[in-house]
Parts: sequence; structure tokens; C-alpha cells
Amino acid sequence: MTQDDLLAFDRQHIWHPYSSISKPLPIYPVESASGVRIRLSNGRELIDGMASWWSVIHGYNHPVLTAALQEQAAKLPHVMFGGLTHEPAVTLARHLVELTSDPLELVFFADSGSVAVEVAMKMAIQYFHAAGRPSKKRFLTIRSGYHGDVFHCMSVSDPVSGMHQIFKGVLPEYLFADRPECSFYDEWDRNDPGSFEKCIAEHHDSLCGVILEPIVQGAGGMRFYHPEYLRRVRELCDHYDVLLIADEIATGFGRSGKLFACEHAMIAPDILCLGKALTGGYMTLAAVLTSRNVGEMISSGDPGVFMHGPTFMANPLACAVANASIQLLLESDWQQKISNLEKGLQLGLAPCTDLKNVADVRVLGGIGVVEMREPVDMGHIQPAFVEKGVWVRPFGRLVYVMPPYCIEQEDLAVLTAAICEVVEEEQRR
Ligand SMILES: *Cc1c(COP(=O)(O)O)cnc(C)c1O
Repeated sequence: MTQDDLLAFDRQHIWHPYSSISKPLPIYPVESASGVRIRLSNGRELIDGMASWWSVIHGYNHPVLTAALQEQAAKLPHVMFGGLTHEPAVTLARHLVELTSDPLELVFFADSGSVAVEVAMKMAIQYFHAAGRPSKKRFLTIRSGYHGDVFHCMSVSDPVSGMHQIFKGVLPEYLFADRPECSFYDEWDRNDPGSFEKCIAEHHDSLCGVILEPIVQGAGGMRFYHPEYLRRVRELCDHYDVLLIADEIATGFGRSGKLFACEHAMIAPDILCLGKALTGGYMTLAAVLTSRNVGEMISSGDPGVFMHGPTFMANPLACAVANASIQLLLESDWQQKISNLEKGLQLGLAPCTDLKNVADVRVLGGIGVVEMREPVDMGHIQPAFVEKGVWVRPFGRLVYVMPPYCIEQEDLAVLTAAICEVVEEEQRR
């Protein structure tokens, strides 16, 4: 098949994320990738700024991860998890229990981030059902969040960017507090959680869970909020007997500068969702952790079991790669790498601050964001980045990067310079 044939078929028959059939955006065929470089079929190499949406933390085609995958494939690629177990799953569960905060000691393996969020929400509902308080089955969240694309995940994602009005009548309607305004770097304003305080005080009788992304709101706005906000949410959840679900699918495994973003506020959630970087970006796998208390309550009620069990639950290939990825991360000086990444991003993106079309530039850990005043024109900006040899995929008003942790300073400088140039050129269009 020639490249032209491949692209023609793709254009005619394949959906891409958030894509239009009648007005498709440019699509680039990829031949291979290694380290921080994506090789296009036309021979062009791109320095990757996206880590394939937070997931490829060690870079592409890492020899250790590839070896773990091949070894596992030769032994046991898959077996059902109902009534059977295997070493890769047990080792991974051990890792996750050990790395996360103390009360979290039960692990449910799910097949994607969205499914993990659904599982977490079902856990909260079943917990209060078993506790004899079945009227507590709604959720409270904060605006500008993102929790995935399936229905319940959408129902707690930002109602505006999540286009709730299209799905009105089908989508469950949950409660939204104002988004946090006090940024990670601002002086703490104790009035910031006011809207949240009011919501939970008014509705706690019908609430089983609060769900939010700790510290970093990802696809709903790429915002970094104050750790005191999260601490206050934890206090209020305890006070009103509502479970706190932390969605660390994007932030988990070091991205924000801590292994898990909840550590910025030194709190532990009742339920934790992990995904994306869990397998170092090799394949899809997610995990939901909860406390023994929650697990025992769910198991004590009717029907006495937790009601979920996906076909590919705890897929051995995915678990084996996840184990190798976690080991790689822990053996590396990841804190230093993230700290260098943070400094490189701050330095490299600083020139954007003065541009008239830029509303804000912010960096936290391995995440760099240039927030524009107007939504970018993807049909123009995407080829402009490729032309400069970098892979950056903006959405809406956000031009942002979260490169693999292994990116060298020179490559990072090329990446950030390309962003500054492209954003500056946008200004003159
Ligand atoms: C990506 C993401 C999800 C959804 O994960 P998928 O694997 O795409 O289903 C949920 N929550 C957050 C915070 C995410 O970033």
C-alpha cells in the first residue's frame, strides 16, 4: 500500500478523536517512534511534546518495556480474570498498593481511564447502597474538569466544553461547583472553595461521591489549582460523609512533580483512578484503588459483590509492561528529570508571555501550557508545528505540552522555541 492509498482509505473510512467526516483535519502517517522522536512515513522526524496524551513517560519503543512485553507474550498474552489470577497482576497490584497512600489497598483493574472512572463511581454508589443509605447516589464535581468520554464520565466533565446540551435527557445530571480560581502559585484565598462548600452543605444527603482531578485539571482547561483547595475538599467530604474520588489518570506517575498529585496537598482519596502512564504508553490499562473499609462495606451489602468485570480485566501483557514501566520510573531519578523539565519549560515558554494573543503561560512539573486569547485554527497550526519538526496538538485556546520525561534539554529547547515561533506567527495572521 502506498502512503497515498493509506491516507485515502483513512480519510474515507476512519474516525479519529473528535473528528469530522466531511471536513477532516490533516492526518500524518507514522512509520515508527523511539525515544522522543516520532518518524513520519515521509521520513520527517518530529520531537514529541505530547507523550501521546500523558502516557509515554519513558519515550517510545523503550527496550526494557518492549522486552517485558515480548517475554510476557511468549508465556501468557491473556487469560480471563474470573476465577484465575497471574503473577503480572499480583505484582502490579503490590506496586500500586505500596506506592499510593495508606488507606488505598484494594485494586480493581480496568481496561481504560474512562472505564476506571465508571468503576470508581459505581463503587461510591454501591458503598452507600450497602450502608443502607441508597438515596446517596449523586455526584458533585468542579467545573473545567475532564473525566473521559463515556456517559458517566461526561456527566462529571465540564458541562460547557463537554457539550452537555447535545446529550440532555440522556446524560445524568450531577452537581457542579465553580472551578477553583486560586492557582497553584497564588497566595491561598480561603474563599475560593465557597461555591463547593455551599454545594456540598446543601446536597450531601443525596451525594455519594465528589470526583475531581487533584491539582491539575487536564483536558477541561489545563489549569493548576491550589493544594489548599484540595485539602478543604477532603475535610468537607469527611465532614459530610461523602467519598472522595481522585482522578489521577493524567497526573499519576510523576507528571505534576509528585508521584501522585494528591501528595501536593498531603491528602488521600477514598477512591483513586490511574491510567494513561500506567503502562508507559504501551497499551491500555487502568486501575481503581480503594480502602478496605470501602471494599468491605460494598461486600457486606446486597448483592455482596462489586458489580463489574471487563473481558480484558488485568490483561497480562498490559500488567507486565506496567510493572516494567513502574520499575523503570522508580529506578530513575524521576524527580530530578521532572524538575529539569519544569525549568526547561519555564525558560523556553517565557517569551510567549509578552505576546498579545497569549492570555497566560503556566508550567507545573512536566506540563507546559500557553493559553491563547482565541481558539487556534487547527488546520493551520498543526502543519505549522510539523513544519518546525515538533509534535504539538493544541485544542481550543490551549497550546500545551507534556513531553516524555527522558527529553534532553536541547530537544526541549527546540520544542519550546517552535511553540513560541508558531504562536508569534499566529499573531501576525
Ligand atoms: C484521559 C483521561 C480520562 C479518560 O481516560 P481514557 O483512557 O481516555 O478513557 C479520564 N480522566 C482523566 C483525568 C484523563 O486525563
